[in-house]
Amino acid sequence: SATVPSDLDIATAATLRPLGEIADELGIPADQVEPYGRDVAKVSLEAAKGEQRGRYVVVTAVTPTPLGEGKTTTCVGLAQGLRRLGSKAVVTLRQPSMGPTFGIKGGAAGGGYSQVLPMERLNLHLTGDFHAITAAHNLLAAMIDNHLHFGNELGLDPRGITWRRVLDINDRALRDVVVGLGARVDGVPRQTGFDITAASELMVLMTLATSLTDLRERLGRIVVGYSVDGAPVTAEQLGAAGAMAVILRDALQPNLLQTLEGGPALVHLGPFGNIATGTSSVVADQVALAHADVVVTEAGFGADMGAERFVNVKCRQGGLTPDVAVVVVTVRALKAHSGRFEIRPGRPLPEGLLEESPEDVRAGLANLRKHVEIVRSFGISPVVAINAFPQDHESEHAVIEQLATEMGVRCAVTRHVAEGGAGAEELSRVVLEALEEPGKLTFTYPLDAPLAEKIEAVATLVYGADGIDLSPVASKHLAEYEQLGFGHLPVVIAKTHLSISHDPALLGAPTGWRLPVREVRANVGAGYVYAICGDMRTMPGLSRHPNAERIDLDASGEISGLS
Ligand code: ADP
Ligand code: MG
Repeated sequence: SATVPSDLDIATAATLRPLGEIADELGIPADQVEPYGRDVAKVSLEAAKGEQRGRYVVVTAVTPTPLGEGKTTTCVGLAQGLRRLGSKAVVTLRQPSMGPTFGIKGGAAGGGYSQVLPMERLNLHLTGDFHAITAAHNLLAAMIDNHLHFGNELGLDPRGITWRRVLDINDRALRDVVVGLGARVDGVPRQTGFDITAASELMVLMTLATSLTDLRERLGRIVVGYSVDGAPVTAEQLGAAGAMAVILRDALQPNLLQTLEGGPALVHLGPFGNIATGTSSVVADQVALAHADVVVTEAGFGADMGAERFVNVKCRQGGLTPDVAVVVVTVRALKAHSGRFEIRPGRPLPEGLLEESPEDVRAGLANLRKHVEIVRSFGISPVVAINAFPQDHESEHAVIEQLATEMGVRCAVTRHVAEGGAGAEELSRVVLEALEEPGKLTFTYPLDAPLAEKIEAVATLVYGADGIDLSPVASKHLAEYEQLGFGHLPVVIAKTHLSISHDPALLGAPTGWRLPVREVRANVGAGYVYAICGDMRTMPGLSRHPNAERIDLDASGEISGLS
């Protein structure tokens, strides 16, 4: 096929539909739509009420490779394709963090002829939700240090404070800082640090909140640290939760944008995939499900991480029921999972990767098979979407189609990046078929199981591990959490996304391994306990030549270099 123009060229050439028309198409009344400029609006939480009439499709993928599998583009393309077939379809996506926008190249609004517009707004401040989260987060931090300054009535152990500060910029120099230096009036010196805003507990708390009341209650439950005798100290006790809710009020409303083909897109919040759910918000999906025939949303990373947390945390807490899971796969990803090529981020593609080789694709199929099995373990109907790249060969697609046939899974090749919604019509038809036969949602573990058993259930039943090995400190903290009444929370496993195991070097569908849990932490306000299995960075750094060096503005206000 012909070469596709750049994402930015396609986005710039597009004519946007008036946003009022998009809201009308969805049936959201004008008084529930609050314009933020010409091309973006916030949707009132009123629009989340009412019968959840839509069918719910989650897009997940095989284990990610540095090549990009195309979950976001597939979400947008599928929504465009469904709309072409006459379905009232909405895509719901995360808002990109500005960290990666200025760090590694590129935005996150889809690609080619499957994008969300306006892309500059989307990739920059949008409606300021991330700034609100930054402000609310740092207000709480300021109130903690103020509490220490004025005598520490709650007895917080300065070394037991877990609430850090956040900023939506990659800045390695802020990972560890000392605050409170200076004179006596300048506060109590202590070591702390910054995380990127996407890693704030508030980011995921907001995605899981189902109403303003729920938001307010979750904020109150946030544990900022512990007293010397191990008693948790909350945002409510510090008197911060009400003011935080006020800062966050408008940010709980989802943002309405549009696809390149003028269909509705809701973009809302963006928690870090590593330590949080990595999904867009419950309220955006409620708005969508209350108005659309089909709602397409993305769950980050592969099905082991993204879909697992989507089901066991987001859907369970939000009372949402997914009907179909699309598993995105590419020829190049399966070749990468064959172990026959060494692929490094930012390096040229390895020799031979793009040459016709069904054998290399076959050698990576175990990974796709495992992700389909993972989706089935949740009782959700899988559909395999082969995201076609211009350099693919039909013989290579055939290998994937054959596996799908063997497994009895619906499968379609999709060309939405090169062809827009028209290229996703086949996938759309297959998804509509699958929606006629939805499964029955099954959680991986009951919430009342002990925390260690919940972690073990995910490790063994989803990842395929033989078991888990808790470090002594992890065991101790899990026991403390049970005692403190956090035992009923669901779990998130923070591990590499580059393998179904904790070890990025284990490709395909690893067997015969155990999951080592180094540390556990509780995000009590957001409502989950997370287990850390490996090194987790919560404040990225910039590369030697960050994308920021290529971004500029001309005299007319035109932006260049964003993608
Ligand atoms: P994910 O959501 O899985 O991380 P994205 O949808 O954001 O992946 O895509 C990652 C990158 O790969 C983007 O730059 C996108 O434009 C590109 N891409 C995805 N699918 C295709 C395709 N079929 N052809 C060409 N480029 C693609
Ligand atoms: Mg994505």
